[in-house]
Amino acid sequence: MNEQLRLLVDLQEVDSSTLSLADKIELLPGKLERFKTPLEEASASFQKLKSKHEDFNKRKKNKDLELEEIQDRINKLRSRSSEIKTNKEYEAHLKEIEGFEKNKYKIEDEILSLMEDIENFTKNLQEEELKIRKAEDDFQKQEKMLEEEKRKLNAEMEIRKAKRKDFIAGIDKEIYGKYMTLLNRSGLAVVPAKNEVCLGCNYNIPPQLYNDIKKNDGIYSCFYCKRFLYYKDPPSTGSKSRETAAVS
Ligand SMILES: [Zn+2]
Repeated sequence: MNEQLRLLVDLQEVDSSTLSLADKIELLPGKLERFKTPLEEASASFQKLKSKHEDFNKRKKNKDLELEEIQDRINKLRSRSSEIKTNKEYEAHLKEIEGFEKNKYKIEDEILSLMEDIENFTKNLQEEELKIRKAEDDFQKQEKMLEEEKRKLNAEMEIRKAKRKDFIAGIDKEIYGKYMTLLNRSGLAVVPAKNEVCLGCNYNIPPQLYNDIKKNDGIYSCFYCKRFLYYKDPPSTGSKSRETAAVS
């Protein structure tokens, strides 16, 4: 193969893989973003439960105070029992105590039910906390993995940059200028010709030009898309080393 053509093919190969590497690097933050959702959801439902938990604790405290007050009143009433003279007064006195005691039992029931709710909320909170911890763990693992991936991709990028520099050094300046114009246009400046067709634009190549291209001994361009053309031997006809090199 013509040396300039070989360098152009190599340059295109390195530039194409650089572009796909850049795409991969660009996609990395999105891959982390997906792991934020479960974490945010777990945190949100934890906060919701926590405020409910706090609310019920407050309610219970208020009920405790109510209970204390009512107990105080009952105690005071009872301490006055001995001062009562008549039966009628005594009956009314007992009724009053009974009324307060009924109220007291009601409050005690409410406190019990609140305690049950609080216990359930506490359990749920612990479960939510575990979920958060797992989501955090998953997020951190993913973050670490993506950082490692990014580091690898960047290292590959550096290798390609160095290769590119090497290739450019050997390419004629005018040809390189054309190459860059074509590359900036579509990302593809050097394409194979196959069955008398340019694989860049799919237009036919005149037979005489195609015959010249097949020899791979000069720089030819497609009439339509202006891309540089080369002929890629089918793997069976002996360019195996080139094929495997391209794959690896
Ligand atoms: Zn073309």
